[in-house]
Amino acid sequence: MTQQQAARFPLTTEVDFVIVGSGAAGGIMAKELSTRGHTVVVLEQGPRIHPSQFHHDEYAYFFRNEINTRQPITWRQTPTEVAKPGGILWYAQMVGGSSVHFTANFWRFRPVDFNERSRLGAIPGASLVDWPITYQDLEPYYTKVDWEIGVSGAPGPNDPPRSRPYPVPPLPVKSSGVLFERGARKLGFHPYPAPMAILSQPHNGRAACQNCGFCEGFGCEYGAKSSTLASMIPMAERTGKCEIRARAYVRQVEVDARGRATGVVYFDENRREQRQRAKAVILCANGAETPRLLLMSASNRFPNGLANSSGMVGKHLMFNGASLAPGIYEHPLNEYKGVQVTRIAHDWYDSDPKRGFYGGGGIDARGDINLPIFFALNGGKPGVRNWGAEHKRFLEHGFSRQMVIFGHTTSLPVESNSVSLDPTLKDDWGLPAIRFTYRDHDDDLKMMKYLQDRAMEIHQAAGATQSWRLPVEVQTGTAHLLGTCRMGNDPRTSVIDKFHRTHDVKNLFLCDGSSLVTSGRGQPTMTIMALAFRAGERIAEFAKRGEI
Ligand SMILES: Cc1cc2nc3c(=O)[nH]c(=O)nc-3n(C[C@H](O)[C@H](O)[C@H](O)COP(=O)(O)OP(=O)(O)OC[C@H]3O[C@@H](n4cnc5c(N)ncnc54)[C@H](O)[C@@H]3O)c2cc1C
Ligand code: SF4
Repeated sequence: MTQQQAARFPLTTEVDFVIVGSGAAGGIMAKELSTRGHTVVVLEQGPRIHPSQFHHDEYAYFFRNEINTRQPITWRQTPTEVAKPGGILWYAQMVGGSSVHFTANFWRFRPVDFNERSRLGAIPGASLVDWPITYQDLEPYYTKVDWEIGVSGAPGPNDPPRSRPYPVPPLPVKSSGVLFERGARKLGFHPYPAPMAILSQPHNGRAACQNCGFCEGFGCEYGAKSSTLASMIPMAERTGKCEIRARAYVRQVEVDARGRATGVVYFDENRREQRQRAKAVILCANGAETPRLLLMSASNRFPNGLANSSGMVGKHLMFNGASLAPGIYEHPLNEYKGVQVTRIAHDWYDSDPKRGFYGGGGIDARGDINLPIFFALNGGKPGVRNWGAEHKRFLEHGFSRQMVIFGHTTSLPVESNSVSLDPTLKDDWGLPAIRFTYRDHDDDLKMMKYLQDRAMEIHQAAGATQSWRLPVEVQTGTAHLLGTCRMGNDPRTSVIDKFHRTHDVKNLFLCDGSSLVTSGRGQPTMTIMALAFRAGERIAEFAKRGEI
């Protein structure tokens, strides 16, 4: 079936579901509901880009933000500061969202992620709580992600139980993977093939990875990267029940006098205001835009923002920690080819009281955005000048010999870390910009440093001729946007219940990075997608039973 056969609903039609955002969660939600017979309109603020239009222009993607959002934001570390404009909000604004240009590391959470509060007790300065669901509740949906979205991999040591093997084997190992494995094994660690949302073999009618190398930050023209654009959205459209309406920027969720959601108001591609009515509204706009939309939907009935009787909308923002240690090796590694990551180690996954602080994580090895301009501007040791003859010699020697050992770590939920509406800065439509308030908990910074120490040891054991640390400092990276409308059983301390229904509005659901209760160990999207499969199934059941 061609794209022309996808549904097109007249603007006056009330559909069963309107979904805001077509990214990692929204794409799955669209497929789950439309294949169960529901009419669905997905409103996506970004354009529809056909995979054949993806290209390998580093400047366009990384410096002109061709697919990244250009929404203005402000930043501060604590609630007492005045936030300053600037900084980067890093998500892809297009059909498929950030699942299109992400790196595709695809780690399941483990059983220990879901009950850390009960196991570890309270952490001062944080509001760590248990999830209202367990790994066992989510396992069937992780397996659905593996098979329907397409994940390559092989079982690793201490993996959580899985009901089915991976659908396709791991991707071919790269030089970084060989060296990482060698160094890590010498030290007694347990490296193994990285699970990736990239196909190593054809699967579900899609092609395998061609190792083009323009992967992190780029769209995949072969459809081998398992974005929702490549996997779910075509299935949703083939039902003839789902319309993906691109360049539709939602500014408000509307509610009636009974407090039920009636639809959303959005700006169309001609900047005209439109309305999409629906029996239920599902926000999948990510961990920054979903809380913003709820706060922008304040009304007399909901003066603090929609679904915000708890006051928790926007709070407990988590980014995940990242610590990097680059190293130079004797022979060319040619890391600019292929996918980013082929080997990982999870020996430090669970929080260990012997370390003296909360936290856990995993490590991978990669070229890390091994692109010419990016490397010329960011490669090399901090503090060493990035111009002149010495720098040129470094580029010539280092570009093909560098690999980065990358630590991915926990972020504790801290109430003051948040997304809120900036009181002065507005976007191009006159809507309030996002204000980030963020300062990592001290334990998060300690965990980042801890994994960086392990990374340095691995470089040494693997034979690096040089290695160094990039500074571990309070984060400003926004690739992972988590926890801002967290799930819970208690309406006083959470925004949605365990099936993603808001506690306050019966026919309003939230499902994306904002739903997460804890941050996992750095690769949240597998869990965001598993939650979306689970929520889609349940929401369809509620609709069938007349419970929406
Ligand atoms: C460069 C990069 C690399 C990454 N690598 C990894 C990785 O290796 N592993 C991993 O697990 N995660 C990774 N991530 C994070 C991952 O991409 C996100 O966790 C995931 O995509 C979040 O899914 P989501 O559904 O919450 O939101 P998104 O995928 O961001 O989708 C939200 C969608 O909603 C749309 N939207 C927002 N507001 C509105 C509005 N008002 N109206 C209409 N539409 C709207 C957006 O345009 C977007 O398309 C990476 C992210 C980046 C940026
Ligand atoms: S490296 Fe593979 S998955 Fe990544 S963009 Fe290229 S072909 Fe696609």
